[in-house]
Amino acid sequence: MLVKNIHSLVTCDDHNRVLHDVDLLIENGIIKAIGNNIIGHPEDTLIDGRQLLVYPGLINTHHHFFQSLVRNRVDLDWSQLSLLQWLQSIYPIFAKMDEECIYQATIIALAELIKSGCTTAFDHQYNYSKNAGSRVIDRQFEAAQLFGIRLHAGRGTNTLPMHEGSTIPDLMCETTDQFIDDCERLIGRYHDPRWGSMRQVVVAPCQPINCYPETFREAAALARAHDVSMHTHLGEGEKAALQARSGLSSIDWCIKQDFFGPTCWYAHGWEFSEPEIEQLASSNTGISHCPAPVFLVGAEITNVSYMQRQGLRLGLGVDGAASNDNSNLAECLRSAYLLQCLKAKELSYPIAEAREYLTMATRGSAACLNRPDLGQLKEGLCGDFFAINCDRLEYAATLHDPMALPVKVGINGPVDLTVINGRIVWQNGEFPYLDEAQLVARATEVANALMAR
Ligand SMILES: [Zn+2]
Repeated sequence: MLVKNIHSLVTCDDHNRVLHDVDLLIENGIIKAIGNNIIGHPEDTLIDGRQLLVYPGLINTHHHFFQSLVRNRVDLDWSQLSLLQWLQSIYPIFAKMDEECIYQATIIALAELIKSGCTTAFDHQYNYSKNAGSRVIDRQFEAAQLFGIRLHAGRGTNTLPMHEGSTIPDLMCETTDQFIDDCERLIGRYHDPRWGSMRQVVVAPCQPINCYPETFREAAALARAHDVSMHTHLGEGEKAALQARSGLSSIDWCIKQDFFGPTCWYAHGWEFSEPEIEQLASSNTGISHCPAPVFLVGAEITNVSYMQRQGLRLGLGVDGAASNDNSNLAECLRSAYLLQCLKAKELSYPIAEAREYLTMATRGSAACLNRPDLGQLKEGLCGDFFAINCDRLEYAATLHDPMALPVKVGINGPVDLTVINGRIVWQNGEFPYLDEAQLVARATEVANALMAR
């Protein structure tokens, strides 16, 4: 693929360079050259870049695809619900989901991610009810292949029954052995650690409060033995209960189970104090910041600015539909920034510049997923990018800082082009080779059948 005469190419490299009137050549999925007057091969897909602002593909570091079938519900008013009330109303629906429900929910989530410039998606799948069966991640890889997106599949679980203090219905509990065995199966079958990998497996028990400690200990041992990443929810409201149960802070609890470090990242972290953030930085444990749930259900504003100052591996996430009714990662760029602006008044130091939020969703997210081959537009890295057409009134008079544009101005509507692994997966409002209307009809049918159960 050759993109000619790009209006502005935002690299997100070490110097945050923005290049103008350059060409971008991608060969075999890898960026071969960025420069002037590049000559490609006659068979290359040729794209006219004169009106395009080109960015590294966004990387989503936290989601629960399966929740996408349960959105915009009249009975769920976030502003009036405690977390426990929410769980009680939503989990009976989750427990009824079968494999096809989770497949269709995955289709919905992936489509919206791609439309919002996402090129690599992580999913935290922890819905293993008796109805869902054990092959849901296999189906998710199938869905990712349909769209051509990179997928990091988090194999989640809940093992603690309700009578021992869990908040998850027993129908959605597994044993630690079931969980570990399936992780091993998935790693053996799907995990590809190579440069340019399209699919990886992450060992990801749901959260400490709903699992036995040994689930986390064995998960960490397995992840380390196979050199795969690990992930869980932390600092998202469990602090007091976990302290009462174990006498430990959330981070210390995870350290005790060996579930931390450079191959590990946690979702949320809005409960972490400054010393705890320093503790995360010193062990090089990452955080996925999901702004939407902070607005909807979070008790406090995540101290992202302090995390940035401490040089944490910090990525961006949309989170599942249980605390964000959409999967629009571009929207999160702007809301993450606005949220810190709200907090800025109470800080004794300035918050990061707007452009750093783009870095969070690209290089930062890539660091969370341990993907040095993603997150920048640079020779030798993966050919993943999205582009917007700058010839629109909503972007008029904003082009002097293309890097901050998606953060401060925001991306209005779907992006114009998404390319993954050197292949067009979304262009001018269409998924090439896919019939979107047909996909909508099938997802709607499955969602309606679920609600009627
Ligand atoms: Zn989550």
